[in-house]
Amino acid sequence: MATTAVSTRTQLVDSLIERYPHIPKEAIVKEDLLRAGVCFSDEALEVAATFQSKSYFIFSFDLTPFEKMEGQEYRKAPEELCLEGGPLGFRRTIVSVRLNPSSPYRVVEDGGLCALELEGARLCGVGFRDQPAYYAKRLANGKPLIEVAPNIEWGYLIYLTVYRICQYFGKEEECKFCDMNENYRQQIQAGRPYTAVKSVDDVVEAMGIIAESDTASKAYTITGGSVTSQLAGLAEVDFYARYAAAIEGRYAGRWISKMVVQALPKEEARKFKDAGTQIYHPNFEIWDSGKFAAICPGKNRYVGRDEWIKRILDATEIFGASKVIPNFVGGIEMAKPYGFANVDEAIKSTSEGLEFFMSKGVTPRFTTWCPEPNTELGDANPEGAPLEYHVRLLEAWRDTQAKYRLAAPPGYGDPGAGRAVFSVSAFMDVAQ
Ligand code: SF4
Repeated sequence: MATTAVSTRTQLVDSLIERYPHIPKEAIVKEDLLRAGVCFSDEALEVAATFQSKSYFIFSFDLTPFEKMEGQEYRKAPEELCLEGGPLGFRRTIVSVRLNPSSPYRVVEDGGLCALELEGARLCGVGFRDQPAYYAKRLANGKPLIEVAPNIEWGYLIYLTVYRICQYFGKEEECKFCDMNENYRQQIQAGRPYTAVKSVDDVVEAMGIIAESDTASKAYTITGGSVTSQLAGLAEVDFYARYAAAIEGRYAGRWISKMVVQALPKEEARKFKDAGTQIYHPNFEIWDSGKFAAICPGKNRYVGRDEWIKRILDATEIFGASKVIPNFVGGIEMAKPYGFANVDEAIKSTSEGLEFFMSKGVTPRFTTWCPEPNTELGDANPEGAPLEYHVRLLEAWRDTQAKYRLAAPPGYGDPGAGRAVFSVSAFMDVAQ
């Protein structure tokens, strides 16, 4: 398809909305906010500070490190924005907040309410989620609940990053888009409470407090960095399975139980199922084999791409195909110096991966790549992937889902524009 020359961000967004009328316009803006981040006026930040705060639930998901945020926006930023209304008549759209003081997207205050502007022009209204009552509480040992069990997706998902460090460490092992270890360092340096390893007892106590008062949460995710040798004397599967077993032992069936860890051998993955995990996310990150090896060197060396794929498919025999959901980091396939040079090639490659998995009943999902500056890929690609790539990725995902007549993946809330709550990619906004 021919591309129209555009010189401003507004023209780019308008042209994509015009060229892809079958993709919800809200989803296009959501993808752009996720890849480029958002900034706030001082007044808007004061309003936002009275709502649910950004918890830094796993990575930084910011386009600027803390030390370069002159206004210390990270202390007041909200977890998510709810976009609605405006000249384009946006349906309710939930977007994770990724801070970037230089973003063309700006949240401003107007008469006590907030709105989103793009290059100074009003786009839509912005709402924030009320701070859940339990965020004000602490565990018996004094730890704040927001640190132990934050929620995202407008309250739908409790996010339990029980191990905030990854044992894939340094240039030869860390995935080149990932700032987990760097984020841990900056959180500690900023003096924020940020526990490296959460205890099982703390997590269960926190879930008990949530169970008493919260009605919004429907699922929880247990996750953390990869364990290449042992942690607390345990292998990766045994370390993470303990949390699911303890939560399910106490609150069986209260939430949908999800596990986001490496692709483990079949008999190990079965331990998660036995512990009560319902949905398994062995994150795959990127389809192309050469780029997988270059961008995920630790995963490639310790497990290998072919074995990773085999383990994903093996896991379908344990959980059922619809409940094995590998994540792709949408956009890294275009990151220099490893990525494809043009959108067509990148879409062709990722579509091949979608085709492969969806033809087997496995529905991958995306997290939109945030080019965090303290990563090799973020450093080399501060603008991220082209917005057109993200829009076409939504199109490819939706078309492949329709081709194989797959239901929207479980554990993500309702699908569709105006209903989706999944906040780190717009794939649920286009899902059927
Ligand atoms: S496996 Fe890769 S993406 Fe996952 S935490 Fe480790 S470095 Fe980050």
